[in-house]
Amino acid sequence: MNIIELTKRQDIILEIVKNEGPITGEQIAEKLNLTRATLRPDLAILTMAGYLDARPRVGYFYSGKSGPQLLGDLARKKLVKDFKALPVIIKESSSVYDAVCTLFLEDVGTLYVSNDQGHLAGVVSRKDLLRAMLGKQKIEDIPVNIIMSRMPNIVVCFLEDSIYEVAKKLINNQIDSIPVVREVKAGDRQAYEIIGRVTKTTVTKAFVEIAGDQPV
Ligand code: ADP
Repeated sequence: MNIIELTKRQDIILEIVKNEGPITGEQIAEKLNLTRATLRPDLAILTMAGYLDARPRVGYFYSGKSGPQLLGDLARKKLVKDFKALPVIIKESSSVYDAVCTLFLEDVGTLYVSNDQGHLAGVVSRKDLLRAMLGKQKIEDIPVNIIMSRMPNIVVCFLEDSIYEVAKKLINNQIDSIPVVREVKAGDRQAYEIIGRVTKTTVTKAFVEIAGDQPV
């Protein structure tokens, strides 16, 4: 189902409901000289896509939502838990050299850094690593925890967050990647266990899925 392009008949149904709703399926069918059965798939599509609302024993009425609003609704329904990728994690004692190798081996742009307890300590991006390589010091001798962005300044997200919220965080913080985390207790402090990764690619995938309505 494509939320932007409706068939001619769906457009006509939408107009009828807009002008005359609430109206039953039976009444719409009569107006169009069609059977209720013929109309059923169209009504199902219009309802699922959010253009129409249906109430038992009342009928169909127009939801009043525009295409962009519906797109927003769909984006808010796509959740991190359904799109997240596996995180690529290195220890904070790893060297910048190790980090660069991992970046290439795992084919990612950002690495998440864990502390001795296995909790999120920081993030290193491509540019963080390039910057470290410009210095005089040998990259085998620089631990990543010297150059990483660190907690508590790491932007994180949770399984139940929507892809829309993630997209906003990526844009507002000008970053490419956000670790998906679960809160855990570490003594009396709050810490994060790293359970996934969402990136600009994740958001693009969700967008393509919304537009084409099939998994990519
Ligand atoms: P790059 O710098 O390689 O283009 P980013 O735009 O993702 O990649 O990173 C920009 C800066 O933000 C880097 O210094 C990086 O460490 C930091 N950063 C990346 N992701 C996060 C995050 N989720 N939370 C906080 N800081 C981050």
